Amino acid sequence: MDSARSWLQKLQPRDKTKAKKRDGDGNNNGNGDLTSPVDEAALSDVTKQKVAAAKQYIENHYKEQMKNLQERKERRTVLEKKLADADVSEEDQNNLLKFLEKKETEYMRLQRAKMGVDDFELLTMIGKGAFGEVRVCREKTTDHVFAMKKLKKSEMLRRGQVEHVKAERNVLAEVDSNCIVKLYCSFQDDEYLYLIMEYLPGGDVMTLLMRKDILTEDEARFYVGETVLAIESIHKHNYIHRDIKPDNLLLDRYGHLRLSDFGLCKPLDCSTLEEKDFSTGQNVNGSTQNEEHSAPKRTQQEQLQNWQKNRRTLAYSTVGTPDYIAPEVLLKKGYAMECDWWSLGAIMYEMLVGYPPFYSDDPMTTCRKIVNWKSHLKFPEEAGLSPEAKDLISRLLCNVNHRLGSKDSSVLQRC
Ligand code: ADP
Ligand code: MG
Repeated sequence: MDSARSWLQKLQPRDKTKAKKRDGDGNNNGNGDLTSPVDEAALSDVTKQKVAAAKQYIENHYKEQMKNLQERKERRTVLEKKLADADVSEEDQNNLLKFLEKKETEYMRLQRAKMGVDDFELLTMIGKGAFGEVRVCREKTTDHVFAMKKLKKSEMLRRGQVEHVKAERNVLAEVDSNCIVKLYCSFQDDEYLYLIMEYLPGGDVMTLLMRKDILTEDEARFYVGETVLAIESIHKHNYIHRDIKPDNLLLDRYGHLRLSDFGLCKPLDCSTLEEKDFSTGQNVNGSTQNEEHSAPKRTQQEQLQNWQKNRRTLAYSTVGTPDYIAPEVLLKKGYAMECDWWSLGAIMYEMLVGYPPFYSDDPMTTCRKIVNWKSHLKFPEEAGLSPEAKDLISRLLCNVNHRLGSKDSSVLQRC
């Protein structure tokens, strides 16, 4: 204690001198303001930064405007060219061009306007997920119908998903493609973040599959082909979806498919998952979970009924279904764009067989089957898949190095 006091005494006089010196130097303008040359420099630095930021903002704003204008022109030229090549009457051509212009103006207006939730009348609920809900809504001033996705901010924070949500908003806003759900604007209040998207009245592919059990190969070819285009369009922007599944494939009023739900991954805790996990026959709790040995083998029809019984519950659960996730994503080994092509393989299998390839009543068992896909990928005889369909699925549900879509191999050519 004594030594501490003596150290304090030793320090004090020196501090006073310093303080005096600072005062003397600082009061050179005579009115007590601390406007030393150093402070002036600091101040002007801040001002310089502000000026640079303002300049950057204005430049970006106009660059963005020019880019939008250019893209709008390009979209018109593309449509004009398509119409000229197609066998369409002049009247229909004019109507389609007018329709495009109307949509473009609508988009610009919503982008400019400062919108809020009160500008919309909320109608039917069409989806409920981990972070909030999706509703059909009508903009009060124009009567135009949109889909409003409402995300609870505290829930996103709690799950550490803020970056994913930002990514969703950005990819929707940036990628201008007919294969992706269009985002018109986004805004927030204290509790929620809102995304105003085009409304796709055709429902999602999950509902379609539940209604139809299985698709013919021709039907599947159409949906798989359109999903390929959607996946390619986001990959071109260096964006990986990671959560491609039938619930996120929506249909427009003409039956064309669009990809939605970017970035809101619903992670499953797979920290205990390993390849060859099945050899032990143990699950995370230590109990025997090897379905292959414990559960009696189901027919394709029984498996389909079981899958359908659980499907909606799984879709609306906070964890989501792992059935379409690629093994490298589950194993957290590092993954790239190829993981989206795996998901497409799983969806195509489900379209033709009735349930996804690694389905099990217990999601953790599904994960184990996925990472050990080599011993679990089987095509039931009863499903009667053509050799071409089996080949395409097998070229998607395989190791990253052999997977279609990786390197330069085009998936579309194989459909
Ligand atoms: P979540 O993160 O909860 O999965 P989604 O964006 O996938 O959110 O939306 C959930 C469901 O809402 C979808 O599966 C679909 O049925 C419906 N939905 C979402 N967006 C639209 C839209 N733009 N038009 C029509 N239905 C939509
Ligand atoms: Mg979804």
